[in-house]
Amino acid sequence: MQKVLITGAAGFLGSHLCDRFINEGFHVIGMDNLITGDLKNIEHLFKLEHFEFYHHDVTKFVHVPGKLDYILHFASPASPIDYLKIPIQTLKVGSLGTHNLLGLAKEKKARILIASTSEVYGDPLVHPQNEDYFGNVNTIGPRGVYDEAKRFQESITMAYHTYHGLETRIVRIFNTYGPRMRLNDGRVVPAFIGQALRGEDLTVFGDGLQTRSFCYVDDLIEGIYRLLFSEYVYPVNIGNPSEITIADFAEEIIKLTATDQKVIYKPLPVNDPLQRQPDITKAKEILDWEPKIDRAEGMRNTLEYFKGLSKEELHKSEHRDFS
Ligand code: UDP
Repeated sequence: MQKVLITGAAGFLGSHLCDRFINEGFHVIGMDNLITGDLKNIEHLFKLEHFEFYHHDVTKFVHVPGKLDYILHFASPASPIDYLKIPIQTLKVGSLGTHNLLGLAKEKKARILIASTSEVYGDPLVHPQNEDYFGNVNTIGPRGVYDEAKRFQESITMAYHTYHGLETRIVRIFNTYGPRMRLNDGRVVPAFIGQALRGEDLTVFGDGLQTRSFCYVDDLIEGIYRLLFSEYVYPVNIGNPSEITIADFAEEIIKLTATDQKVIYKPLPVNDPLQRQPDITKAKEILDWEPKIDRAEGMRNTLEYFKGLSKEELHKSEHRDFS
């Protein structure tokens, strides 16, 4: 049986990856320090013989007994509200954490896939973003702790590939949504759905003309799975190219939730990218992958998930304040 270590296992993407690898017949070791992750995302796996959970912080030496075939490094705060609250941990998990996991991969002769992000493109001057674009990042801005950690992560991963011959894969993840996102993580999908369900007005930051392109989680997981088993070592964008302004997205949510909330405007956070859309030519060519689930279907599933939360969870929200 093949063994895979998934870091950030109790998080949004990590937990979906655990499910996928269990379903594919792997022995899965989930690792998380639970700073931003939540055990309820993987509770259903604890009873399984081929799932283990290690409560561990990957910025400390990582030990896994026995053989290991694959590592997927998904541990990191991933929303602006989180990395503003815990900037040092964000830098450490992308840098020290990645170094530890690359060392582990080398020791075990395991293939490692690391989760990078469209944030490496910063506030992009090229649109849509393809993998050859070097990015436009403010190193010392509020997003710098995340963006630069992820950029360093890509560099050190390529260095391990080049100098140690390690089998590495790099996925650049664009905005992704779906069940198990944290309602209060500040990202726009749970923020708008939460506001609509609580009967609050939807807060659009800036003039709402900034764009994002949202990918449903199942599509993303499929792309990552294909990338891991491909032979391609350079970064690959995975995301849904269907682009929308945040103001239009707010209107979509109001329609979807059949509420009559209003949209209110708040200041745009510092260095908030004005546009983002993946060029997925590479993923199509190399992985024969493209997203299958459109926003209407994906958002319906996501809304169902959030409707299933308790009243208490629904009201435990935090609002971002960048002013
Ligand atoms: N956003 C918004 N209202 C909110 C939360 C976010 O208008 O309550 C905007 C945010 O300023 C950004 C976009 O939605 O332009 C996506 O934000 P998110 O935090 O989800 O992701 P990221 O900025 O990292 O793409």
